[in-house]
Amino acid sequence: MTPALEISHLRKVYRSGTVAVEDVSLTIQEGDFFGFLGPNGAGKSTTIHCITGISNPTSGTIRIFGVDAVANYREARKLVGLSPQEFNVDPFANARNIVDWMGGYFGMHSAERKRRVDMLIERFELVPHANKAFRELSGGLKRRVILARAMVNNPKLLILDEPTAGVDVELRMDLWRYLQELNRDGTTILLTSHYLEEIERLCKTIAIVAKGRIVRNGPKEEFFTEPGGLERAYLAATGKAADHVAVAAK
Ligand code: ADP
Repeated sequence: MTPALEISHLRKVYRSGTVAVEDVSLTIQEGDFFGFLGPNGAGKSTTIHCITGISNPTSGTIRIFGVDAVANYREARKLVGLSPQEFNVDPFANARNIVDWMGGYFGMHSAERKRRVDMLIERFELVPHANKAFRELSGGLKRRVILARAMVNNPKLLILDEPTAGVDVELRMDLWRYLQELNRDGTTILLTSHYLEEIERLCKTIAIVAKGRIVRNGPKEEFFTEPGGLERAYLAATGKAADHVAVAAK
């Protein structure tokens, strides 16, 4: 079966000379919930930017369901939904329009768009908020709008960059439920996070990234057969002090 995502020897050096991604190779099978865990500055967002065409890789290849993400950018991009770390929206636009405009970006026709937007507004329990300006919404509702927007093109691969950063515990649990439902319904998910608990709870496969390289990668169970579980593996992989992990896991 063609993997959902295949990254081979990705390297990204920014113009400033920063080597954000040293050498990343990974494969995500269709249906997986893949956790990309690592400290700030490890290269997670840059990897996502390369997958979604926001940045150009310096070298290496990326294939999304077999489609080359650089040479065949448009076709590859249609297969992906992206929930970025930063809210890159017009704060005065309402939730419905934010989702709808992304449908326009993907060239969806208006009847299809309307059907899809109505369904997503319903699914993410945004009906009472659909006509409110984005800036008026709480942090958790904003995240739901961004998630609905990421799903507008019915992507086979959903990429979430720190989706619960700054979201309180209750709303985080809501988001986790939505993500688990999407995965159960067949969407392959790549999630970046530095919350160990989030990765542990949601993901089937885990990769730990540090300084632009994958230092561990395997099925979740592998991380829990050892004493200390994921936290210990994270410490060993990243070389961080224990108090750093306690903060990151909060
Ligand atoms: P993470 O998502 O794991 O926190 P990033 O991919 O954001 O890591 O960052 C990796 C490294 O690349 C960091 O040193 C960061 O400062 C640097 N970096 C990120 N974006 C840019 C950019 N646009 N230009 C220059 N350096 C960048």
